Amino acid sequence: MNFPDISQDLRTRTPQLRGRLLPNQSLAELTWFRVGGPAQALFMPEDEADLAYFLGAIPADIPVTVVGLGSNLIVRDGGIPGVVVRLGRGFSDVKVDGLRITAGPAVPDVKVARAAQEAGIAGLSFMRGIPGAIGGALRMNGGAYGGETKDVLVSARAVDRAGNIHVLSNADMHYTYRHCGVPEDFIFTAATFEGRAGDRAVIAAEMDKITESREATQPIKSRTGGSTFKNPPGHKAWQLIDKAGCRGLIVGGAQVSELHCNFLINLGAATAADIENLGETVRKRVKESSGVDLDWEIKRIGVPLSRAS
Ligand SMILES: Cc1cc2nc3c(=O)[nH]c(=O)nc-3n(C[C@H](O)[C@H](O)[C@H](O)COP(=O)(O)OP(=O)(O)OC[C@H]3O[C@@H](n4cnc5c(N)ncnc54)[C@H](O)[C@@H]3O)c2cc1C
Repeated sequence: MNFPDISQDLRTRTPQLRGRLLPNQSLAELTWFRVGGPAQALFMPEDEADLAYFLGAIPADIPVTVVGLGSNLIVRDGGIPGVVVRLGRGFSDVKVDGLRITAGPAVPDVKVARAAQEAGIAGLSFMRGIPGAIGGALRMNGGAYGGETKDVLVSARAVDRAGNIHVLSNADMHYTYRHCGVPEDFIFTAATFEGRAGDRAVIAAEMDKITESREATQPIKSRTGGSTFKNPPGHKAWQLIDKAGCRGLIVGGAQVSELHCNFLINLGAATAADIENLGETVRKRVKESSGVDLDWEIKRIGVPLSRAS
Protein backbone atom coordinates (compact mmCIF):
# COMPACT_ATOMS: atom_id res chain seq x y z
CA MET A 1 0.00 0.00 0.00
CA ASN A 2 1.49 3.32 -1.11
CA PHE A 3 0.64 7.00 -0.59
CA PRO A 4 0.36 9.54 -3.45
CA ASP A 5 3.86 10.87 -4.26
CA ILE A 6 4.35 14.32 -2.68
CA SER A 7 8.13 14.34 -3.06
CA GLN A 8 8.16 15.98 -6.51
CA ASP A 9 6.08 18.92 -5.30
CA LEU A 10 8.24 19.30 -2.17
CA ARG A 11 11.40 19.28 -4.30
CA THR A 12 10.02 22.01 -6.55
CA ARG A 13 9.43 24.16 -3.48
CA THR A 14 12.98 23.57 -2.15
CA PRO A 15 15.44 24.13 -5.03
CA GLN A 16 18.42 24.49 -2.66
CA LEU A 17 17.75 21.26 -0.79
CA ARG A 18 20.90 19.19 -0.20
CA GLY A 19 19.49 16.20 1.66
CA ARG A 20 17.74 13.14 0.22
CA LEU A 21 13.97 13.11 -0.21
CA LEU A 22 12.37 9.83 -1.24
CA PRO A 23 8.71 8.86 -1.83
CA ASN A 24 7.03 5.88 -0.15
CA GLN A 25 9.93 4.47 1.81
CA SER A 26 9.32 1.43 3.97
CA LEU A 27 9.89 2.15 7.67
CA ALA A 28 9.69 -1.38 9.06
CA GLU A 29 13.45 -1.87 8.64
CA LEU A 30 14.06 1.35 10.57
CA THR A 31 12.35 0.09 13.74
CA TRP A 32 13.27 -2.56 16.27
CA PHE A 33 9.85 -4.22 15.96
CA ARG A 34 10.34 -4.52 12.17
CA VAL A 35 6.68 -3.69 11.49
CA GLY A 36 4.74 -0.86 9.89
CA GLY A 37 3.95 0.80 6.59
CA PRO A 38 5.83 3.39 4.54
CA ALA A 39 6.64 7.06 5.03
CA GLN A 40 4.78 9.09 2.41
CA ALA A 41 8.10 10.93 1.97
CA LEU A 42 11.34 10.21 3.83
CA PHE A 43 13.70 13.17 4.26
CA MET A 44 17.32 12.78 5.34
CA PRO A 45 18.74 16.30 5.76
CA GLU A 46 22.43 17.02 5.30
CA ASP A 47 22.67 19.18 8.42
CA GLU A 48 20.70 21.51 10.69
CA ALA A 49 20.61 24.34 8.10
CA ASP A 50 19.24 21.97 5.44
CA LEU A 51 16.54 20.76 7.85
CA ALA A 52 15.56 24.33 8.80
CA TYR A 53 15.43 25.37 5.11
CA PHE A 54 13.18 22.42 4.23
CA LEU A 55 10.78 22.91 7.15
CA GLY A 56 10.52 26.63 6.43
CA ALA A 57 9.76 26.06 2.74
CA ILE A 58 7.18 23.26 2.69
CA PRO A 59 3.43 23.93 3.21
CA ALA A 60 2.47 24.25 6.88
CA ASP A 61 -0.28 21.61 6.59
CA ILE A 62 2.10 18.75 5.67
CA PRO A 63 2.60 16.66 8.80
CA VAL A 64 6.22 16.08 9.81
CA THR A 65 7.32 13.20 12.05
CA VAL A 66 10.87 12.49 13.21
CA VAL A 67 12.22 9.02 13.93
CA GLY A 68 15.48 8.01 15.57
CA LEU A 69 16.73 4.42 15.77
CA GLY A 70 13.16 3.18 16.18
CA SER A 71 13.77 1.42 19.50
CA ASN A 72 10.72 2.93 21.14
CA LEU A 73 8.31 2.98 18.22
CA ILE A 74 5.37 1.16 16.71
CA VAL A 75 4.84 2.44 13.17
CA ARG A 76 1.26 1.49 12.25
CA ASP A 77 0.62 -0.73 9.23
CA GLY A 78 -0.83 2.01 7.02
CA GLY A 79 2.38 4.05 7.33
CA ILE A 80 2.96 7.72 8.10
CA PRO A 81 1.31 10.43 5.99
CA GLY A 82 3.42 13.49 5.21
CA VAL A 83 7.17 13.70 5.75
CA VAL A 84 9.23 11.47 8.02
CA VAL A 85 12.59 12.98 8.97
CA ARG A 86 15.52 10.71 9.74
CA LEU A 87 18.78 12.27 10.84
CA GLY A 88 22.01 10.62 9.71
CA ARG A 89 25.60 11.48 8.86
CA GLY A 90 25.42 15.27 9.35
CA PHE A 91 24.13 14.74 12.89
CA SER A 92 26.66 12.19 14.11
CA ASP A 93 29.47 14.23 15.69
CA VAL A 94 30.66 13.68 19.26
CA LYS A 95 32.96 16.23 20.90
CA VAL A 96 34.45 16.12 24.37
CA ASP A 97 35.40 19.35 26.14
CA GLY A 98 36.45 18.93 29.78
CA LEU A 99 33.52 17.31 31.57
CA ARG A 100 31.13 18.16 28.74
CA ILE A 101 30.14 16.09 25.72
CA THR A 102 28.31 17.55 22.75
CA ALA A 103 26.64 14.99 20.49
CA GLY A 104 24.41 14.98 17.42
CA PRO A 105 20.93 13.43 17.64
CA ALA A 106 21.93 10.51 15.41
CA VAL A 107 24.71 9.38 17.77
CA PRO A 108 23.77 6.13 19.52
CA ASP A 109 23.54 6.56 23.31
CA VAL A 110 26.13 3.82 23.77
CA LYS A 111 28.67 5.88 21.83
CA VAL A 112 28.19 8.83 24.18
CA ALA A 113 28.57 6.49 27.17
CA ARG A 114 31.84 5.16 25.69
CA ALA A 115 33.18 8.64 24.91
CA ALA A 116 32.45 9.65 28.50
CA GLN A 117 34.21 6.58 29.87
CA GLU A 118 37.28 7.17 27.71
CA ALA A 119 37.45 10.79 28.86
CA GLY A 120 36.99 9.86 32.54
CA ILE A 121 33.57 11.50 32.78
CA ALA A 122 31.23 9.79 35.27
CA GLY A 123 27.43 10.02 35.31
CA LEU A 124 26.63 8.96 31.74
CA SER A 125 27.05 5.17 32.12
CA PHE A 126 23.28 4.69 32.18
CA MET A 127 23.30 5.43 28.44
CA ARG A 128 25.27 2.22 27.89
CA GLY A 129 22.15 0.10 27.95
CA ILE A 130 19.69 2.26 26.02
CA PRO A 131 19.62 1.15 22.37
CA GLY A 132 18.38 4.46 20.92
CA ALA A 133 20.16 7.58 19.70
CA ILE A 134 20.50 10.99 21.37
CA GLY A 135 17.43 12.54 19.65
CA GLY A 136 15.25 9.80 21.15
CA ALA A 137 16.94 10.17 24.55
CA LEU A 138 16.15 13.90 24.55
CA ARG A 139 12.50 13.34 23.59
CA MET A 140 11.92 10.39 25.93
CA ASN A 141 14.06 11.56 28.87
CA GLY A 142 15.66 8.15 28.42
CA GLY A 143 17.07 6.63 31.57
CA ALA A 144 18.08 3.45 33.32
CA TYR A 145 19.87 2.21 36.44
CA GLY A 146 19.17 5.34 38.46
CA GLY A 147 20.24 7.89 35.81
CA GLU A 148 18.25 9.76 33.20
CA THR A 149 18.84 12.34 30.47
CA LYS A 150 17.47 15.12 32.67
CA ASP A 151 20.32 14.59 35.18
CA VAL A 152 23.11 15.28 32.69
CA LEU A 153 21.68 17.56 30.01
CA VAL A 154 23.04 21.12 29.87
CA SER A 155 21.38 22.32 26.68
CA ALA A 156 19.89 21.16 23.39
CA ARG A 157 19.28 22.65 19.96
CA ALA A 158 16.08 22.11 18.00
CA VAL A 159 14.34 23.19 14.80
CA ASP A 160 10.59 23.80 14.91
CA ARG A 161 8.02 23.05 12.18
CA ALA A 162 8.44 26.54 10.69
CA GLY A 163 12.22 26.13 10.41
CA ASN A 164 13.19 28.32 13.39
CA ILE A 165 16.21 27.25 15.43
CA HIS A 166 15.92 27.14 19.24
CA VAL A 167 18.52 26.74 21.98
CA LEU A 168 16.98 25.11 25.04
CA SER A 169 18.28 24.88 28.59
CA ASN A 170 17.65 21.84 30.78
CA ALA A 171 14.75 23.73 32.45
CA ASP A 172 13.23 24.53 29.03
CA MET A 173 12.84 20.78 28.40
CA HIS A 174 10.22 20.48 31.22
CA TYR A 175 11.30 16.94 31.92
CA THR A 176 9.34 14.43 33.93
CA TYR A 177 9.57 10.62 33.97
CA ARG A 178 10.01 9.48 30.31
CA HIS A 179 8.48 12.75 29.13
CA CYS A 180 9.77 15.99 27.61
CA GLY A 181 7.53 19.07 27.63
CA VAL A 182 9.05 20.72 24.54
CA PRO A 183 6.43 21.12 21.72
CA GLU A 184 5.99 17.92 19.72
CA ASP A 185 7.07 19.57 16.46
CA PHE A 186 10.59 20.39 17.72
CA ILE A 187 13.29 18.25 16.10
CA PHE A 188 16.43 18.07 18.23
CA THR A 189 19.66 18.70 16.35
CA ALA A 190 22.32 18.62 19.11
CA ALA A 191 22.78 18.13 22.84
CA THR A 192 25.44 19.01 25.40
CA PHE A 193 25.77 16.84 28.49
CA GLU A 194 27.91 17.30 31.58
CA GLY A 195 29.17 14.64 33.94
CA ARG A 196 31.64 14.70 36.83
CA ALA A 197 35.27 13.65 37.05
CA GLY A 198 35.54 9.89 37.43
CA ASP A 199 37.93 6.98 37.17
CA ARG A 200 38.02 5.30 33.75
CA ALA A 201 38.33 1.77 35.14
CA VAL A 202 35.47 2.28 37.61
CA ILE A 203 33.22 3.68 34.87
CA ALA A 204 34.12 0.77 32.54
CA ALA A 205 33.25 -1.75 35.28
CA GLU A 206 29.92 0.03 35.86
CA MET A 207 29.13 -0.21 32.13
CA ASP A 208 30.03 -3.93 32.03
CA LYS A 209 27.67 -4.54 34.93
CA ILE A 210 24.85 -2.77 33.06
CA THR A 211 25.48 -4.93 29.96
CA GLU A 212 25.43 -8.15 31.98
CA SER A 213 22.29 -7.22 33.86
CA ARG A 214 20.45 -6.34 30.62
CA GLU A 215 21.39 -9.56 28.90
CA ALA A 216 20.06 -11.53 31.87
CA THR A 217 16.78 -9.68 32.34
CA GLN A 218 15.63 -8.29 28.98
CA PRO A 219 14.90 -9.87 25.57
CA ILE A 220 17.45 -7.54 23.94
CA LYS A 221 18.00 -9.79 20.93
CA SER A 222 14.29 -9.88 20.05
CA ARG A 223 12.20 -7.60 17.86
CA THR A 224 10.90 -5.40 20.66
CA GLY A 225 10.34 -1.79 21.66
CA GLY A 226 11.73 -1.87 25.20
CA SER A 227 9.44 -1.12 28.13
CA THR A 228 5.93 -0.90 26.74
CA PHE A 229 4.25 0.95 29.59
CA LYS A 230 5.50 3.57 32.05
CA ASN A 231 5.71 2.51 35.67
CA PRO A 232 2.57 3.99 37.29
CA PRO A 233 3.29 5.96 40.50
CA GLY A 234 3.92 3.45 43.31
CA HIS A 235 3.92 0.41 40.98
CA LYS A 236 6.13 -1.53 38.61
CA ALA A 237 4.35 -2.07 35.30
CA TRP A 238 5.80 -5.59 34.89
CA GLN A 239 4.44 -6.69 38.28
CA LEU A 240 0.92 -5.50 37.39
CA ILE A 241 1.15 -7.28 34.01
CA ASP A 242 2.35 -10.47 35.67
CA LYS A 243 -0.42 -10.32 38.27
CA ALA A 244 -2.97 -9.92 35.46
CA GLY A 245 -1.74 -13.24 34.02
CA CYS A 246 -0.35 -11.72 30.83
CA ARG A 247 3.19 -13.13 30.85
CA GLY A 248 3.59 -15.04 27.55
CA LEU A 249 0.19 -13.87 26.23
CA ILE A 250 -0.07 -14.03 22.42
CA VAL A 251 -2.19 -11.94 20.00
CA GLY A 252 -1.60 -12.74 16.31
CA GLY A 253 2.18 -12.74 15.81
CA ALA A 254 2.95 -10.73 18.95
CA GLN A 255 3.75 -11.97 22.45
CA VAL A 256 4.30 -10.58 25.94
CA SER A 257 7.90 -11.54 26.70
CA GLU A 258 8.32 -14.51 29.04
CA LEU A 259 11.61 -12.98 30.24
CA HIS A 260 10.37 -9.44 31.03
CA CYS A 261 6.64 -9.00 30.83
CA ASN A 262 6.70 -5.24 30.21
CA PHE A 263 8.32 -6.06 26.83
CA LEU A 264 6.23 -7.04 23.78
CA ILE A 265 7.85 -9.11 21.06
CA ASN A 266 7.29 -9.62 17.36
CA LEU A 267 7.53 -13.42 17.04
CA GLY A 268 8.39 -13.01 13.35
CA ALA A 269 5.23 -12.31 11.38
CA ALA A 270 3.44 -9.79 13.63
CA THR A 271 1.74 -6.73 12.20
CA ALA A 272 1.80 -3.40 14.00
CA ALA A 273 -1.91 -3.99 14.71
CA ASP A 274 -1.08 -7.32 16.45
CA ILE A 275 1.43 -5.57 18.72
CA GLU A 276 -0.85 -2.65 19.49
CA ASN A 277 -3.84 -4.96 20.12
CA LEU A 278 -1.72 -7.08 22.44
CA GLY A 279 -0.74 -3.93 24.35
CA GLU A 280 -4.38 -2.84 24.62
CA THR A 281 -5.38 -6.33 25.82
CA VAL A 282 -2.72 -6.09 28.53
CA ARG A 283 -3.96 -2.63 29.56
CA LYS A 284 -7.55 -3.94 29.84
CA ARG A 285 -6.55 -6.97 31.91
CA VAL A 286 -4.38 -4.89 34.25
CA LYS A 287 -7.26 -2.47 34.76
CA GLU A 288 -9.55 -5.41 35.62
CA SER A 289 -7.10 -7.08 37.98
CA SER A 290 -5.50 -4.06 39.71
CA GLY A 291 -7.66 -1.06 38.83
CA VAL A 292 -4.58 0.71 37.39
CA ASP A 293 -4.53 2.46 33.99
CA LEU A 294 -1.26 1.70 32.24
CA ASP A 295 0.14 4.52 30.13
CA TRP A 296 2.01 3.63 26.90
CA GLU A 297 5.72 4.50 27.00
CA ILE A 298 6.23 3.24 23.44
CA LYS A 299 5.24 5.85 20.87
CA ARG A 300 2.65 4.65 18.35
CA ILE A 301 2.77 6.68 15.15
CA GLY A 302 1.12 6.61 11.74
CA VAL A 303 -2.26 5.28 10.61
CA PRO A 304 -3.85 1.80 10.64
CA LEU A 305 -4.01 0.00 7.28
CA SER A 306 -7.70 0.78 6.74
CA ARG A 307 -7.12 4.55 7.00
CA ALA A 308 -4.14 4.83 4.60
CA SER A 309 -4.96 6.05 1.12
C1 LIG B 1 15.81 -3.71 24.22
C2 LIG B 1 15.41 -2.30 24.58
C3 LIG B 1 15.75 -1.79 25.82
C4 LIG B 1 15.39 -0.48 26.18
N1 LIG B 1 15.77 0.01 27.40
C5 LIG B 1 15.49 1.29 27.73
C6 LIG B 1 15.90 1.83 28.99
O1 LIG B 1 16.51 1.17 29.81
N2 LIG B 1 15.60 3.13 29.26
C7 LIG B 1 14.93 3.91 28.38
O2 LIG B 1 14.70 5.09 28.66
N3 LIG B 1 14.52 3.42 27.19
C8 LIG B 1 14.78 2.15 26.85
N4 LIG B 1 14.36 1.65 25.63
C9 LIG B 1 13.56 2.50 24.74
C10 LIG B 1 14.36 3.35 23.76
O3 LIG B 1 15.63 2.79 23.50
C11 LIG B 1 14.52 4.79 24.26
O4 LIG B 1 13.28 5.41 24.44
C12 LIG B 1 15.35 5.63 23.29
O5 LIG B 1 15.67 6.86 23.91
C13 LIG B 1 14.64 5.88 21.95
O6 LIG B 1 15.58 6.40 21.05
P1 LIG B 1 15.44 6.15 19.47
O7 LIG B 1 16.55 6.84 18.80
O8 LIG B 1 15.31 4.70 19.19
O9 LIG B 1 14.07 6.90 19.19
P2 LIG B 1 12.73 6.42 18.38
O10 LIG B 1 12.29 5.14 18.99
O11 LIG B 1 13.08 6.39 16.94
O12 LIG B 1 11.78 7.59 18.73
C14 LIG B 1 11.28 7.74 20.03
C15 LIG B 1 10.62 9.11 20.15
O13 LIG B 1 11.65 10.09 20.07
C16 LIG B 1 11.33 11.02 19.03
N5 LIG B 1 12.59 11.46 18.43
C17 LIG B 1 13.59 10.71 17.91
N6 LIG B 1 14.57 11.49 17.45
C18 LIG B 1 14.19 12.77 17.67
C19 LIG B 1 14.76 14.05 17.40
N7 LIG B 1 15.95 14.19 16.80
N8 LIG B 1 14.08 15.16 17.78
C20 LIG B 1 12.86 15.06 18.38
N9 LIG B 1 12.28 13.88 18.66
C21 LIG B 1 12.94 12.75 18.31
C22 LIG B 1 10.44 10.26 18.07
O14 LIG B 1 9.63 11.14 17.31
C23 LIG B 1 9.64 9.41 19.03
O15 LIG B 1 8.58 10.18 19.59
C24 LIG B 1 14.69 0.33 25.26
C25 LIG B 1 14.36 -0.18 24.00
C26 LIG B 1 14.71 -1.48 23.66
C27 LIG B 1 14.33 -2.00 22.30
